[in-house]
Amino acid sequence: MSKIVLCDLDGIVADLQGKLIEVSNRDHGTDMKRSDVDDWQLTKCFSIGEKVWDYVGADGWFDDLEPLAGAVSGLAQLHDAGLKVVVLTSATNNPNSAAEKKRWAAKHLPFIKRRHVMVGALKHLVRGDFFIDDSPAQQKAYRKAWPDSTILTIKYEFPADKGVDVQAESYKDTSEAWDIIVKEVLARIA
Ligand SMILES: [Mg+2]
Repeated sequence: MSKIVLCDLDGIVADLQGKLIEVSNRDHGTDMKRSDVDDWQLTKCFSIGEKVWDYVGADGWFDDLEPLAGAVSGLAQLHDAGLKVVVLTSATNNPNSAAEKKRWAAKHLPFIKRRHVMVGALKHLVRGDFFIDDSPAQQKAYRKAWPDSTILTIKYEFPADKGVDVQAESYKDTSEAWDIIVKEVLARIA
């Protein structure tokens, strides 16, 4: 049976933070750069604080996110290697975000079947051999629920949950980070 890869979108495949940098600099006169994104918690690394939720919660926010460099080709490599790649992403409080995320996956990840795109926050209820996610809370819950699964993430400046197996360097160069993620997953199925 194919091994299952569960993969998050925001901060792992979709460049949520990149669009926030753009709107923060455009609308609030900040001078944010990608290297300033050093924490998973948006309100910690964006000086506009809670205003990030006005953007992220707005209709259409997710539709035009760019893919992170290296992410689409990385997932395609895992798919081509025979792994079952499943997108597992949380929606926001805006119910439209669920539809936007499904559309985003269909547009940017056409090799993933539509029914393999799952929207939900209780990620630890889904069994996977590999779990790729940048949320420390999700990493922790996943490790507790599935002690034998491999957990991978792209590294920010702050430490990920201690249960994470692979912290790919780094958010500053996601192409390189995705090369590491692909290599680590393929090494474990060889
Ligand atoms: Mg994420």
